[in-house]
Amino acid sequence: MACVFCQIVAGERPANIVYEDERAVAFRDINPQAPTHILIIPREHIDGPADAGADNEMVIGHLVAVAARVAADEGISAGGYRLVLNQGRNGGQSVFHVHLHLLGGRRMGWPPG
Ligand code: AMP
Repeated sequence: MACVFCQIVAGERPANIVYEDERAVAFRDINPQAPTHILIIPREHIDGPADAGADNEMVIGHLVAVAARVAADEGISAGGYRLVLNQGRNGGQSVFHVHLHLLGGRRMGWPPG
């Protein structure tokens, strides 16, 4: 299995998992860009946001719902946080298994780099 995030879902690669359910897994980013930096991924392999077609719109919506729950668990809901979905090279995507970044614990800049 080549996809590193599929390996995490399968338990074949270690990860600091903070939440999981039947559709999604959330784990701490290995190279955090904020005090809280968690990735929320579907168990199902989807290359990126552009591949999340009509069949799996609900999958992406579930990632956002999980992010809100994890943000509450992390104590960053009141202060606010940022959710990021990177698509393709220009979007900054480096792992081609769709993932929602949950970033919080500091004030985010705008525009993003
Ligand atoms: P992106 O650039 O949007 O594709 O984000 C991929 C993210 O995955 C980066 O923030 C990486 O630090 C993170 N990452 C890559 N491999 C791992 C891993 N094995 N465990 C946790 N996070 C990872």
